[in-house]
Amino acid sequence: MDLLSARINSLPVSATLAMAAKARELKNKGIDIIGLSLGEPDFNTPEFIKNAAIQAIKDNYNSYSPVDGYADLKTAICAKFKRDNGLNYKPSQIVVSTGAKQSIANLCMVLLDPGDEVLLPAPYWVSYSAIVTLSEAKSVIIPSSIESDFKITPSQLEDAITPKTKLVMFNSPNNPSGTIYTEEEYRAIGKVLEKYPNIFILSDEIYEHINYGSPHFSIASITELYDRTITVNGVAKAFAMTGWRIGYIGAPEWIAKACNKMQGQITSGANCIAQRATIAAVEAPVSNIKYMVDEFSKRREIIIELLTAIPGFKLNKPKGAFYVFPDISYYFGKKIRGKTLNNASDFALYLLEEANVATVTGEAFGNDNCIRISYAASVENIQEAVKRIAHSLA
Ligand code: GLU
Repeated sequence: MDLLSARINSLPVSATLAMAAKARELKNKGIDIIGLSLGEPDFNTPEFIKNAAIQAIKDNYNSYSPVDGYADLKTAICAKFKRDNGLNYKPSQIVVSTGAKQSIANLCMVLLDPGDEVLLPAPYWVSYSAIVTLSEAKSVIIPSSIESDFKITPSQLEDAITPKTKLVMFNSPNNPSGTIYTEEEYRAIGKVLEKYPNIFILSDEIYEHINYGSPHFSIASITELYDRTITVNGVAKAFAMTGWRIGYIGAPEWIAKACNKMQGQITSGANCIAQRATIAAVEAPVSNIKYMVDEFSKRREIIIELLTAIPGFKLNKPKGAFYVFPDISYYFGKKIRGKTLNNASDFALYLLEEANVATVTGEAFGNDNCIRISYAASVENIQEAVKRIAHSLA
């Protein structure tokens, strides 16, 4: 008899974390795996941020923080939103959480009821659909493909809207495709949403600073949508702080208040030292982290050039984040080294077993023609990984 709840049984495991765990397990067995599955900068957290954390420990920051975050951190986040995004938020509209993942989970838990529909333009980040499931709502996937640069159109959005639609989740720069919606594209999508005042918008901007030259645009800066947009961000990706676990939202005050209440019953305030370090991160000029973005940009060129040379790999050029999302459907139905590759999951497993390279199946992101490869890895590892992939498929 299964004693676990229907809730947990209905939840898929996180494909990104599962692949990373599998790669770690194989590595521990002595197998030389190159891990390109996890979206995690291979840089260390910058010194000025580490020093702020060390200072916080010395200053005896050891008690519970306010549930929604330290007041001076929330003020610093408001200044960041103003500086980078032209958004006006008051500290009462900010909630700091244990990673942007918790920010998204809080939002879904406070906004969604059973039967509500959540629109997910695909490809979407793996945990969106799982968190929607956990909130007892229903994911409605809006497909895109490499031909549309993995973007949806306003009419696709409108066609997916029903009286049950409660929320739509956007993510630009996008994980896994690296696609960035331009201001013009977002404004056209915004025109559709203006007609449906009961739909809320989650704008996940965690990759905002991992951008190779396209202007970043925040949906909340569309005046007509500001009152129903929740802007999600955090420090993990831009500041190489994945393990510090700090994310935050800027939201209508009543939503922020509800997220605060939810978080107060589940985790309380985020880690106090990480919050103090985050003040240093969000207050720093963005130029402080340019060296990492420049390096990712270089790696992007390298990985695109190398992968494009492999027959059957179709790529778009990602404009942000640190992933490529090649369409590898050319291989479906083909038998290689005695293994038939029927879908993206077969393909990712094949690469793990035959090339010892860990990637993630696109199925987890709502697109089963693609796989996600992270290039937040050293040039040496990228080159070796692609060499192995090419060899395994030759
Ligand atoms: N967001 C990262 C990724 O997509 C980290 C892993 C996760 O939380 O899913 O790889």
